[in-house]
Amino acid sequence: METMKYIKQSAKRVAIFSLLILPFFLICIKVGYNKWAGDIKPIPWEAFLALLPKAMIIYTANVICFFIIYTMMLIFLKGSNDSYICTKCENVLKKWQMDKNSGKCTACGSNMEPLEGFYERHPEKRD
Ligand SMILES: [Zn+2]
Repeated sequence: METMKYIKQSAKRVAIFSLLILPFFLICIKVGYNKWAGDIKPIPWEAFLALLPKAMIIYTANVICFFIIYTMMLIFLKGSNDSYICTKCENVLKKWQMDKNSGKCTACGSNMEPLEGFYERHPEKRD
């Protein structure tokens, strides 16, 4: 099922991204960074710990929204950025470029195959 593939891909990327951003988010709260106020007012650890549960709920809600939007984007684009390779001249194209040329190679007009696993399916083409 294609949709399941996109949901899994999205979940993986959003999870990595949100874990990378989390420390910066927490540091911003601790140092009291506020881009609208334009200044920095550090808050004590007790206040920080008191804010933490609320901050995590907000952060989680944002991550879920981001996940939903990102998943829909992947489904909408339907792998248009996946790479395809020409079976004859081994020219590599993105799916959207291939589709524009009725699914044929733009260089020689031969049939295209997904790049993923191409050299496993055609070991003779390996240099
Ligand atoms: Zn070709």
